[in-house]
Order: sequence, then C-alpha cells, then structure tokens
Amino acid sequence: RRPDLPSRCTYGRSKDSPHSNKSCPKPVRPKILNSVLDNIAGTPMIRLNNIGKSEGLKCEILAKCEFFQPGGSLKDRIALRMIEDAEEKGFIKPGATIIEPSSGNTGIGVAMVCAVKGYRCIIVMPQRMSLEKVATMKALGAEIYRTANGIPFDQPESHVGVARRLMEEIPNSFLLDQYRNPSNPLAHYDGTAEEILDACDNKLDMVVIGTGTGGTLTGVARKIKERCPNCKIVAVDPEGSLIAEPAELNQKGKKFEVEGIGKDFVPTACDRQFVDKWYKAADKESFQMARRIVREEGLLVGGSSGTALHYGIQAMKDFGLKEGQRCVVIFVDSIRNYMTRFLNDEWMGERGYLEDEEEEPSK
Ligand code: PMP
Repeated sequence: RRPDLPSRCTYGRSKDSPHSNKSCPKPVRPKILNSVLDNIAGTPMIRLNNIGKSEGLKCEILAKCEFFQPGGSLKDRIALRMIEDAEEKGFIKPGATIIEPSSGNTGIGVAMVCAVKGYRCIIVMPQRMSLEKVATMKALGAEIYRTANGIPFDQPESHVGVARRLMEEIPNSFLLDQYRNPSNPLAHYDGTAEEILDACDNKLDMVVIGTGTGGTLTGVARKIKERCPNCKIVAVDPEGSLIAEPAELNQKGKKFEVEGIGKDFVPTACDRQFVDKWYKAADKESFQMARRIVREEGLLVGGSSGTALHYGIQAMKDFGLKEGQRCVVIFVDSIRNYMTRFLNDEWMGERGYLEDEEEEPSK
C-alpha cells in the first residue's frame, strides 16, 4: 500500500541506477536493448534554424526533444523512475496494481512500464484530455477512468481524488502520485538536466520550461543553477492555471486547452524558488507556434512545446539574449497525441485559433 512519501521533495545523492546518468553523463547504449525501457532518456538536442531568425533573434535556440522518447514524452523518465524507486523500497510487489492520476503522458509512460514489467495499471484522467492519449494507454493494457473537467483537485470526484479512492479499495495497489513523489523531480535532476548540461558543455544562458506537476522545472532548474548560476530559468504557465508567481499573474477559473501544463493548485513536486521569470500563456499563441515548429523546423511536437517556444522567444527578447548566447527550450511531447486537435484546421478554426496565423513562409 501507499508508503509515507515525504511531503517535500528531498534531494539526496542519486543512486547509480542504469536510468540515472548522474555518475555517467553519457550513457553508452548497447547495440541490442533488453526492453523498450532501456530506450528511455538520452534524447537529442536539436538546433532551431528558422523560427528564431524570423523573430529577429541572434542567440542560439536549442530544443531538448523529449518527444523522441519511446512513449512519446518526457514523462517516460518519471514513470520509470517512480516505479523503480518504489520497487527498490519494496513498496511495489509482484502482482501489484499501479494507479496514477495523469493528464495523459505520465499515464502512457506508466502503462508502458507496467506492460513490460507485468503490473496491472489504472490511469485516472480528466475528460478534457485527448482521445489519442486514451487509445495509446488502452493499447498498452491500462484501465482508464475518466473524471469530469474542472473539479478541484482536493475533491473526491477529481482525478486525484478518484485515484486515492481506488488505492484504498484495491488490495496490493500503489499510487505513484507524481504531484508529490520526489522521484518525479529527481528523474529530471539526474537525467534531463544532466543531458542538457552535457549537450551544452555547461554553457547555457536560459532554459524555458512549461509547468504541470512542476517536476521538470524543479529538477532541471535546481541542477542547472548549481552548475550555471547565471543561467536564467523561465517558467511558463497557462492563463487560468494557478502555478505562476507572483499570484496576481494568475486568473482563477479561466479555461485553457493546451494539455499537460497548468493546474488549479501548486503541486508539492513544484519548487518555484529557482525561477527568474514566469510567463502566462494563451492557447492561440501556443497552438500556432506548435504548428510553426512542425512546419518550419520539421519537429513533430505537441501543443505545450509551442507554449514553451512562443513565450521563450518573448523571454529571450525581454532578457536581451545576444549573438553567442544560448537558450534551451524543452519540447515535452509529440504530435501523435493531438491529431484531432491542434493539427486539425476545423478544430482550430472553431475556436478562433487560426486568426492571424502567419502565412507559410515562402521558400
Ligand atoms: N507538457 C506536456 C505535454 C505534459 O504532458 C507535461 C506533464 N504533465 C508537461 C508539459 C509539464 O511537465 P511537468 O509535469 O514536469 O511540469
């Protein structure tokens, strides 16, 4: 059953697990992998060659391309880390049922790990998340519970509340709880951040990160401030979410459609102390930029990558990043999750998201 996880994130020295590259920043992949889980992490860093230029920026913009993960998002890292840390501590036993409330990508990662390791998997997800994510999780063998949209997280009918109830009801079950589990930020502290620093030879001036659980922000920002104290940390939170600081930036109750970022509470896994500046993000700008990333850079990203880049460009301008300086933007998930959403002109048009969309660049 659920252990007493610490309510604040703790940062100890990391273990030398094969998936933690702290002691080995450049893990060498064997030619033949034992399972798909060995293909988690080690994503490419890719230079953006066109969008920055057309926005008048001279600095270098690099994308940490997490959509190349086997489950399609950066959340594969935390799914594996949360499950393996809990296995190591003896909290997950053979025959266990693993339960997770998720906006989808963690659910896909958890379902993938459970498929490989043979655990029963239950994912609890709000209705508003895309059917593409549900189809992927179902194909991986997960059982899905959908909850109504907009229910406050502390109510029993919310996706968090339903997951807690299922954990009480199902014997030999374990709730991973990415919102509180310290293995979430640790996966990024040990993995994502190390890979970013390694790719950049410790030379970077800005990192841009969208926030959902805040695990990426917490882990990446902490490690990068340790190694590159002058690097600016820029965090992006949708209009309608309550994570940004100062609190006056936030507008309670406003609906937003970009998936995976934004919450009606500040998760315990989210440590905001390293953020130099918060930006509030609108849906239209986010989706239009996601389409530009696909069209102009050839990178098959999801909506929150558009959010990060659009507001990242704003931040690069606000902080005056110059030629020779470098900004890393994290592209979290893949186009696969959104075929019927921002990729679809009708879906975009009905919502007014196509207004003022830039013409295709002439070649
Ligand atoms: N973008 C997408 C598409 C996501 O699914 C998530 C995770 N929910 C994030 C961004 C934010 O990541 P984190 O939970 O680490 O803040």
